[in-house]
Amino acid sequence: AVGQVLVNEPLAKYTTWRIGGPADVLVIPSNQEELSTLMTVLKEHQISWTQLGRGSNLLVADKGIRGVVIKLGEGFDYATFEEDRIIAGAAHSVVKLCILAAKKGLSGLEFAGGIPGSVGGAVYMNAGAHGSDTSKILQSARIVLHDGQIVTYSVEDMQYAYRHSILQEQPGIVVEASFQMKLGDRTTIMAEMNTHKDRRRLTQPLQQPSAGSVFRNPPGDHSARLIEAAGLKGYRIGGAEISTQHANFIVNVGQSTAADVLELISHVQKEVVKQFGIELQP
Ligand code: FAD
Repeated sequence: AVGQVLVNEPLAKYTTWRIGGPADVLVIPSNQEELSTLMTVLKEHQISWTQLGRGSNLLVADKGIRGVVIKLGEGFDYATFEEDRIIAGAAHSVVKLCILAAKKGLSGLEFAGGIPGSVGGAVYMNAGAHGSDTSKILQSARIVLHDGQIVTYSVEDMQYAYRHSILQEQPGIVVEASFQMKLGDRTTIMAEMNTHKDRRRLTQPLQQPSAGSVFRNPPGDHSARLIEAAGLKGYRIGGAEISTQHANFIVNVGQSTAADVLELISHVQKEVVKQFGIELQP
């Protein structure tokens, strides 16, 4: 058994942008054994695969994804606490993990209370905010490599940089992560997390489908500032719009396609280069 198998499954409902065509096959392994079996089958038949987390940093093409898309199921959605350490399955919600950590008086995840991804996605992306990121707390990650081999990467092995990890060049599936936290005061931790969340509610279009910030911040500047200064807030192509609230967010205001978003990204890049000579990277 490899878990739940869904053929020609539309992916829009699995992404926060609510955009994306079908996966040839979406497989949801519910535990490590099913994932291992799946990887063996994929390797044997040389079938390409793509990993999906909570879809909060993904633009899935309108034509969808060929081959197999893997989404880790319920057996990967757990968190255990050992004094100042958290061990979490890759499918666990980061937002929920932050709340659990705060309740236990564990400090380190305050930055992530508003990042709507999975633990696996955060480890892969080096998700971060408010001056911190995943690399600051990750101790190690358990990863299933392309050939099915299971390895444990230390934080050094992850080769972290701004929104970057080694997994972006050397694919592997994060199945579990271990975080080194600090013992702290519950009330203080909760208060800091809530301050960040309140700020997001004021500055980000959280009621509209998006994938968060679209462009990386160029060194010493903010993409949102540049896009706003270029006069692009509210600029729309099809159903994709530069948020009027936060210029680095592209929101799906109706039936946006991936093509609309890509066209808008390219328009923003051209305008920002023309006006400020800076090349924004998605
Ligand atoms: P997905 O979007 O599903 O996937 C992203 C990438 O990670 C893909 O390449 C995928 O293959 C890979 N991946 C996912 N799971 C695994 C796994 N188990 N093993 C290996 N690879 C995997 N990001 C920030 O960094 N900071 C922010 O402040 C922030 N704010 C956001 C606010 C909003 C409203 C939204 C919608 C998004 C925001 N994001 C932010 C973006 C996003 O939440 C993060 O990048 C998050 O880490 C993505 O996790 P995910 O599980 O949704 O991954």
